[in-house]
Amino acid sequence: MTTKYIFVTGGVVSSIGKGICAAAIGRILKSRGLTVAVQKLDPYLNVDPGTMSPYQHGEVFVTRDGCETDLDLGHYERFIDIELTHNSNITAGQVYTQLLGEERRGVHLGGTIQTVPHVTNVIKEFMLRAQHEGSPDVVLVEVGGTVGDIEGQPFLEAIRQMRMAVGRRNTFYVHVTLLPYIGATGELKTKPTQHSVKELRAIGIQPDAIICRSDHPIPHSIKEKIALFCDVAPDAVIPMETLSNIYQAPLVLEQEGVGEILVRELNLATPNGSDLSRWEAMTERMANPHGPLPIAVVGKYADLPDAYLSVREALRHASLFHDRDVSIDWVRSEDIERDGPDAWLSHTLGIVVPGGFGSRGVEGMIQAVRYARERQLPYLGLCLGMQVMVIEHARNVLGLTGANSTEFDPETPDPVIDLMLDQRSVNDMGGTMRLGNYPCVLAHGSRAAKAYGTPEVNERHRHRFEFNNAYRETLYEAGMLASGLSPDGTLVEIVELEKHPFMVGVQFHPEFRSRPEQPHPLFREFAAAATHVMREGAQPELPMGNGA
Ligand code: GLN
Repeated sequence: MTTKYIFVTGGVVSSIGKGICAAAIGRILKSRGLTVAVQKLDPYLNVDPGTMSPYQHGEVFVTRDGCETDLDLGHYERFIDIELTHNSNITAGQVYTQLLGEERRGVHLGGTIQTVPHVTNVIKEFMLRAQHEGSPDVVLVEVGGTVGDIEGQPFLEAIRQMRMAVGRRNTFYVHVTLLPYIGATGELKTKPTQHSVKELRAIGIQPDAIICRSDHPIPHSIKEKIALFCDVAPDAVIPMETLSNIYQAPLVLEQEGVGEILVRELNLATPNGSDLSRWEAMTERMANPHGPLPIAVVGKYADLPDAYLSVREALRHASLFHDRDVSIDWVRSEDIERDGPDAWLSHTLGIVVPGGFGSRGVEGMIQAVRYARERQLPYLGLCLGMQVMVIEHARNVLGLTGANSTEFDPETPDPVIDLMLDQRSVNDMGGTMRLGNYPCVLAHGSRAAKAYGTPEVNERHRHRFEFNNAYRETLYEAGMLASGLSPDGTLVEIVELEKHPFMVGVQFHPEFRSRPEQPHPLFREFAAAATHVMREGAQPELPMGNGA
C-alpha cells in the first residue's frame, strides 16, 4: 500500500491539545491494524529543546536513540505504543544547521540559498524519509505552533508541497482550532476558526477536516456554519469538547467518525475494521478507581506540571494497574527547605523526586529523601532523584555531613556523585549528555530484578553526573545496594535500600517507557508499595490538604 500522509496543524491559539489529537488519530489508525509513523515539526530556532528551560518548553522527551525532543513525542509513544527515534522530530534549528553546513562545504556553490526551495526541501526530505523507515501505512505529521506564526511559514509551505510530492489522494490535512465561549451571550464563536482557515488557505492548504476544541458542547448549527465558511464536508467538522481524561480522545474522535473519514478519503485498506475495546475498557477503569493514591512529586518546577509530564503519566498508569487514581501533590522543593518536610509531606503515601539540573531546591529534595527513608515511605528517585538519594544516605547514614554532588558543590569533601569521566572534556551544552538507551544488568534477587522480571534491561538516559564508585563499598555496608550496573560493572544505574519497603533510585528515566496499558515495572511496584501503606493505615489524615 502507498504510504499516506496526514498533516495536523493548529489554529487560533496554542495549548489546545493538538498533540493529543495527533496521538489519538494515531491510536485510531493502529486500532484498524495499520502501521503508523509519527513526526513533529518544530519551527523554533533551537536545534533541540535540550537547552531550553522547562518554563519555555515543558518536559524534554528523550528517544531511545538519544534525541532530546518535544513532549508531544511522549503522547505519541503512550497513545500509539511505539518507540520513536531521531526520524520523529525536526526543528528549524536542525534545518538551518544542515543547510548552512552544506553552504560552507560548497554543496550549493554558485547558488543563492532560499527558503523555497532549499529550506522547504530539507523539511520535505525529512518527511519523505519516514516512508522508507519500515514502510508505514500512514505517516502522521504534526506542525508545531499556530498558523500565522512567522517561523512556521516554511513548514506549512513544505507540507503544502507534500501534496504534489506524494500525490493528492495520499494526503489529508487536519486543522485543530478553538471555539471560544462568550459567557455574556452564552455562545461559541466560529470567527477565529474562519480566520485561521482563511490564513491556511492563503498558503494554499485547504483543510480536509477541522477538529474544533471547546470547553462547551458544540451545537449542530455551529458545525454547519464552520462547514459552510471553511469549505469542509459537514461530517468532517469534528467537535472535541475538553475531556476530563486525555485517554478518552481516541474514543471521542472515533465516535465522531474520524476513523471512517480517514479510511474513506485516503482509501486505506482495513479489512478487520476498528477495535478500540481494550482501550475503552482501560478508560473505563480509569473512570472508576477504587480510591485515590496520594503521591508527592518533589521538584524544582512543581508549579509547572508539564515539566514532569511523563512522570505524571507513568504514575497514572501505575496507579491504574492497582485500580487507584493517583492524586499528585506537586511540592516545590524550596518550600520544603523553608517549612520542613512535615509541612508538605505528612499526607502522602509515596514520594517521587524527578530529574533536574542545578542546585536550586536540591537541599529540599534531600530532606524529602530523608523523610521517606526514616518514615519507611515508598520512594522512587529518577535521575537527579537517585543522586539525591545517594547524597542523603552518605550524609545521614554514613555521617559524611559534607557529602554532595560536584554539580552542586565542586569543593565537597565527599563527592558521592561526580561528573562522568567522558564529560570532563565536553564544552558544548547541546546534545552532549549521556543520552538514550544503555543496558543495565540487575543484581539477582534485588527489588529491581524482581520488579522487571528480567536480568538485563535497556533504559533511556539524560545525565552528566554519576555515582562515584569510590563510595560503593561503604554505602553498601550502610545498607544501600547498587542493584543495577552497566554491563562492564563500572556505572551504577540503580540503587536501593535493603531495609525499607520500597526505596529505589535510578540513573535513567523509566517514565518515558510507561504505557497506559503497560505501566513501567518500577512505577508499578512503587505504586504497589504506596497502596500497601494505605491499606496498613500507616499514614493518617486523607484526603490531602496541602500543596495544591
Ligand atoms: N543534573 C544531573 C546530571 O546531569 C541529573 C540529570 C537528570 O536528572 N536528568 O547528572
